[in-house]
Amino acid sequence: MKKALLLAAAAALLLCVPLAFARADGERPANSGRYERYAAAHMELSEAELKLALALKLDEPSYKNVVVVNRPSSLGVLVSKHFALPAGYVPAVLEDVDKNYAMDGVQLRADCCAAFLEMARAAERQGAFLYIKSGYRVNKTNDDPDDMWNAWPGHSEHQTGLAFDLRLKGKTRTLLRDYRYETSFEYAWLCAHACDYGFVLSYPEGESDTTGYEFEPWHWRYVGVRIATDMRDKGFSTFPEYWAAYLMARELRAEPPARIVASVDSLFCRFACAYAEAE
Ligand SMILES: [Zn+2]
Repeated sequence: MKKALLLAAAAALLLCVPLAFARADGERPANSGRYERYAAAHMELSEAELKLALALKLDEPSYKNVVVVNRPSSLGVLVSKHFALPAGYVPAVLEDVDKNYAMDGVQLRADCCAAFLEMARAAERQGAFLYIKSGYRVNKTNDDPDDMWNAWPGHSEHQTGLAFDLRLKGKTRTLLRDYRYETSFEYAWLCAHACDYGFVLSYPEGESDTTGYEFEPWHWRYVGVRIATDMRDKGFSTFPEYWAAYLMARELRAEPPARIVASVDSLFCRFACAYAEAE
């Protein structure tokens, strides 16, 4: 019920910002054919869920007609098979991660690095040892659009410097899948506490249709405490859905015209009131 209400609110919000989406996408705003085609193929989805899916361009083939994001350094940036970083994007400040918590040479964006160390030290005090195998990186060229594990260059959260892959320390398995990280105490600790430090699981189990990737219990992404805790409080399990519902208008425009911001804000207030009343 809580989620259904939020999805309805999100859909209403999306209706008020089609211009932002259309301009970044280069498409006409009233593209009803897309909606109808996707609806016919996904009878199980509600109208609100369909609108979120279209905002995320899930009806498009992977890596086709992608949106290049305007604010690649924003904590609210969406990077997916349909949304890309500008060509050659490199985060402004990358830092080496303390070698007690990462393999040699691992780097993260400075703000993500500081938050990770704070989280790793807190986890360690409670017996969970967070250890990074891979942080900032630019993915190798890949020509398989259906690859559910490896993103194409410009489409990986790792390139933002805000994401990392964890492994269990002291083990030397090559494939992250072989660690079965989801069975570890570390994973359970992260599921309970990561959002308090601003981290979210990018590719949760059972969400491949939304994320485009298989379950990756080791891949965590920094979105900041405000977004992470708001996602938890509003019951969102994936960042893309939250992005489509609450961040899209802001993220797709470098400087939104005041008129559009005002209409979004007033709608947002109405949703918040309706939501509070329903609880
Ligand atoms: Zn990863």
